[in-house]
Amino acid sequence: MTISSPPKPSTELQKNPLISFGGGIATYSEIKPSDIAPAIEFLLEQAQYAVDQAVNPNTPARWNDLVEPLEDATESLSRSWGVISHLNSVADTPELRSAYGDMMPKVTAFFSSLGQNLALYQKFKELSQSDGFSTLNPAQKKVIENSLRDFRLGGAELSDAQKPRFAEIQDEQALLGKAFSDHVLDATDGFVHVVQDLSDLAGLPEDAIAAAAELATQKNLQGWAFTLHFPSYYPVMQYSENRELRQMMYEAYVTRASELGPQYSKGNITWDNTQNMLDQLRLRDEEARMLGFENFAALSLAPKMANSVDEVDLFLTNFAMKAKPFAQKDWRELCGFAKAELALDNGLEPWDVPFAAECLKQARYSFSENELKQYFPLPKVLDGLFGVIQTLFGVNIESTNLPTWHADVQSFSVKNTAGNIVAYFYLDPYARPGKRGGAWMDDARGRRELTNGEIQIPVAYLVCNFAPPVKVDGVLRQPTITHDDVITLFHESGHGLHHLLTQVGALGVSGINGVEWDAVELPSQFMENFCWEWEVLESMTAHVETGKPLPRELFEKILAAKNFQNGLMTLRQIVMSLTDWRLHSLFNTKDVQNQSVLDLTRKIADDFNVIPQPEISRWINTFSHIFAGGYAAGYYSYKWAEVLSADVYAAFEEAAKLSGSVLDAETGKRYRTEILEVGGSRPAAESFKAFRGREPSIDALLRHGGLA
Ligand SMILES: [Zn+2]
Repeated sequence: MTISSPPKPSTELQKNPLISFGGGIATYSEIKPSDIAPAIEFLLEQAQYAVDQAVNPNTPARWNDLVEPLEDATESLSRSWGVISHLNSVADTPELRSAYGDMMPKVTAFFSSLGQNLALYQKFKELSQSDGFSTLNPAQKKVIENSLRDFRLGGAELSDAQKPRFAEIQDEQALLGKAFSDHVLDATDGFVHVVQDLSDLAGLPEDAIAAAAELATQKNLQGWAFTLHFPSYYPVMQYSENRELRQMMYEAYVTRASELGPQYSKGNITWDNTQNMLDQLRLRDEEARMLGFENFAALSLAPKMANSVDEVDLFLTNFAMKAKPFAQKDWRELCGFAKAELALDNGLEPWDVPFAAECLKQARYSFSENELKQYFPLPKVLDGLFGVIQTLFGVNIESTNLPTWHADVQSFSVKNTAGNIVAYFYLDPYARPGKRGGAWMDDARGRRELTNGEIQIPVAYLVCNFAPPVKVDGVLRQPTITHDDVITLFHESGHGLHHLLTQVGALGVSGINGVEWDAVELPSQFMENFCWEWEVLESMTAHVETGKPLPRELFEKILAAKNFQNGLMTLRQIVMSLTDWRLHSLFNTKDVQNQSVLDLTRKIADDFNVIPQPEISRWINTFSHIFAGGYAAGYYSYKWAEVLSADVYAAFEEAAKLSGSVLDAETGKRYRTEILEVGGSRPAAESFKAFRGREPSIDALLRHGGLA
């Protein structure tokens, strides 16, 4: 074997801003698209060298010789790559996008080759069976165990005879998933309904009418055009007083990508997903059995918090039974209102439901979103959020001036009680051209204990898309955000705290790394609860003109509207979760051939749904989360994490009964220690139990949602 030396950056490369920041903070504004290829090529080479060294027979299977150097090299690569993909999300330009796209396949190929590297698997196995393993700390052990699990789930233990078929299954699944979402998109795009007479659009808001006129112009049509894309479709369902229009749009919507879809009449059935779903379920079942699991649902639980297929099924069924009476109550209320106020013949049909619900909401809970927004200037909201964090978790958040990628971006340091900086984060609040929509938290750097004993402190990005401040009479107004925006900000800050307050030193399980993904939304949804507390809102609001806090009366209104029709909404989510779960746990390879997906979907709907489902409904044919996203046998995790977060929050409500405030420092400290600090270093179920002193209970979520 030849001994090579590690690749060293040339003098030119040392000046490349994607290399020169090393373990520090990147100087985003200096990065040019032309820096990307040379930096990433070099870092890939360096990482590949580390992999080759790791699998070298002479490399001892010890943490410091095997895991540390590998982590050093892959972290350098993923941090620089992280900076580029971050810029691609928040400061997109055609040049950056193309440079990013050029390197993407190489980076993806490198990381997937790691998971397929059997020599590396053997080394990790050797380490786990060595005497040295017992001397590792729990976080280090967890990193090794997670790696071994991922190798096994990637097929590392399969025989040589099985491997080609396993690889084939992965490829086929990827193709089918892509075809599924293409069909949904094509079926959604393929339908256009044109309205010629404005009087047919009675009830629709002006902006929806303007958008329909614009769409017609784009398509060279006369009048107003509607498609089945949600922003075009849903306002019709919600506001249109034209019942025939609603029915026609509804029927087109629920038959997309099925044998009943509108395209069928044109003799083109290629958008029908019926066979695609069967094929995917069959392949998933086959994959699970190859890996030694009874079904795909059981396989999907390997990296999750839930323990067994039955546990999830029981969780969902019990939840459904509790929610059903409230859904029935919502339904009766809606039907009663429709009968008395809306004069609909034959009662409520499925295409009347969003319309009737909107009318009822207006009648009962109307308030002006715009008026409410005046009470939430962003700086005041941030002060409020930081105050909550400070009181609960004993850290101070101070403005600082890290290099950023845009003038609107703010940066902050997080200091402990001794005044030492323990973390940094960025806040990029406003929507702008070149910035991807939505809101998210991402890690720029994870906490890690370095070999020299130093601590690398974590850094996070909080990205939102609030409406930017506007100029009135030439003067820039204070930026104000909606109450929904406030909830989003608290949500992302919850993910941020999970990442920033970790005390774990092993990168693979520090902060949000390695957290089971049915538990990862716990800290984020937990923070949302504070946005519904009067004591928090009162001190977090100041009218943009008068400076007065939110009036109590307006607060009561938003609180009353919060749980409007929540019984029906909750039950719908549970039925979707249960359908996903049973498709992946009850079907086996043999059944999938014969038993139709639709039959099972109908059976669950008949058992649990309250709103009568029309015969023609084929909603399952567009359930992209489970057939084209990452949520196969995972849709339940939304509700699962909500239960956890509500139950954690209930501990603060219990403390408030004694102390008078939900901002209870002692409970906050316990939450910080048992949940935030440990990150992925121990199972989420253990962390929950350590905080709550018992198993999770669904009661708090039911109570918060008005379902108790
Ligand atoms: Zn989240």
